[in-house]
Amino acid sequence: MSSIEDAIAAIHDRAPRTVAVLTGAGVSADSGIPTFRGAGGLWRNFHPQQLATPEAFRRDPALVWEWYEWRRGLIRDAHPNAAHEAIARLSDAAVITQNVDGLHARAGSRNIIELHGNIFRVRCTREGTRTMHEQAFDEIPPHCACGALLRPDVVWFGESLSNEDLAKAAAVVRDADIVLIIGTSGVVYPAAGLAPLAQGITIEINPDASEAAEHVRYSIQMRAAQATPRIISAIEEARA
Ligand code: NAD
Repeated sequence: MSSIEDAIAAIHDRAPRTVAVLTGAGVSADSGIPTFRGAGGLWRNFHPQQLATPEAFRRDPALVWEWYEWRRGLIRDAHPNAAHEAIARLSDAAVITQNVDGLHARAGSRNIIELHGNIFRVRCTREGTRTMHEQAFDEIPPHCACGALLRPDVVWFGESLSNEDLAKAAAVVRDADIVLIIGTSGVVYPAAGLAPLAQGITIEINPDASEAAEHVRYSIQMRAAQATPRIISAIEEARA
C-alpha cells in the first residue's frame, strides 16, 4: 500500500506526457453501478458468472436478457462520477476499459478501447450485425428483423476479446509514461495481463487489496472518485 502523496511526488518528478488508464467495474461503483465481485452484484440470487455466459444464453435467453435489461436500466439512470470526469479532462489519454457501461464516453473521453463491448449495443446471433439500442426492449428476449435472437454485444465469460483491440491496448500500455489502473480486481484475463506490460510509472486505485497490486509501483487504497481527480490534477500540474 502507498500513500497518494508518494504517487503525486513521483508524477511531479517524472512529468509524464503519455497516459494510459486501465479501468474496471470499480471506477463506476461510485456512480452506483454494482461490481461483479462484492456487495450489490447479485440479482435474484444469481451470480454474474452464471448469467454472463454463452451457455446461460443458450439455456434461457429470456432470463439473461431480463438481467441485462435490469443492468441497462441502472446504467441509463447513472451518471459519470468524479473519476470518469477527471480522466476525460486529459483529452490525449488512452482509456482502456473492461466496462460495458459507456460512462467514459459520456464523461467526454474520446480515445477509448472497450475491451468487453458495450451494453447498449446489440448483435444479431445469425447475421452478426451490430446496432446501438439504448431504450428498453418491448419484447424479451428481443429479436432481429431477420427473426433470429439478438444478444448484448459484450464479451461473456469464456468468449474471446478482439485481437486487434488487445494488441492496440498492449502497445498503448507499453508506450505510456504513466499507467493508472483503477477499480479492477485484476483477475479477469486477458485484460489483467495488460498492467504487467507497463514500463512507466504505475499507480493503482482500489479501496481493497487486488491482484493488480503486485504489478504496480504505487497502490493507493482509496475510492476511484476520491483519488482519481487528485492524480489527474498532479499530471496536469506536472505538464504545465
Ligand atoms: P470486478 O467486479 O471483478 O472488480 C471490481 C474491483 O473494483 C474490485 O477489485 C473492487 O475492490 C474495486 N472497487 C470497488 N469499489 C471501488 C471504488 N469505489 N473505487 C475503485 N475501485 C473499487 O470488476 P472487473 O475487474 O472490472 O471485472 C469484471 C468484469 O465484469 C469486467 O470485465 C466487466 O466487463 C464486467 N462488469 C462491468 C461493469 C460496468 O460496465 N460498470 C460492472 C460490473 C461488471
